[in-house]
Amino acid sequence: MKLSPLLLLSLVFGIALFAIFSPESSDPERRSYPCSQPATDWQKSPYVLPYRDHFAYVVNQANCSGNGHSNFWNHGYDFVMPVGTPVTAARKGTVLTASDGCADGNRQCTNLVTVQHEDGTVGLYSHLTRGGVKVHVGQQVAAGDWIGLSGNTGNTGGLPHLHFSVHPCGALPGLGLSGTCPSIPVNFKNAGPNPNGLKPLKAYLPAPF
Ligand SMILES: [Zn+2]
Repeated sequence: MKLSPLLLLSLVFGIALFAIFSPESSDPERRSYPCSQPATDWQKSPYVLPYRDHFAYVVNQANCSGNGHSNFWNHGYDFVMPVGTPVTAARKGTVLTASDGCADGNRQCTNLVTVQHEDGTVGLYSHLTRGGVKVHVGQQVAAGDWIGLSGNTGNTGGLPHLHFSVHPCGALPGLGLSGTCPSIPVNFKNAGPNPNGLKPLKAYLPAPF
């Protein structure tokens, strides 16, 4: 089949738009992953919302919502919040990596914290603000501990937000580790009923836990 120049142009333009607005790095494995449901009853989930009581934030992208939350990044949440909002640990663990040297607005460089949990899974908190990391590598954190400040670094699409996702191990794009660990589904014990995880365009207020 011969592609018309117009079709070819729109294809190229579409791919370019996707690259610009995709909130996360591109899929490192370039393969498709199924969208699955959380395995844990939400009320028994070891995870809590990654921000403080008394503040509700809207989820923009959620599980399998396309664009940045596709394939490798299928499972995860973008909480829309102003730059400088306190980010807290969603689950207890040990800080695996921490970086905060990127400037807000820099689309090529993301500040992030990763926390390894006791079952080996890793929580990723990304797009933090410059100088916004409040923990150091090797530090133990409990659920609810302050770990950083949200920001607008990396591929946010220009919308300041916290990206949170959980992975079966810490080999993630940009962290210099071999192998890859695509995101896994998560729900939260203090977000109200959320058996299948959080929904896009809904605000979530953390309950005490
Ligand atoms: Zn995201």
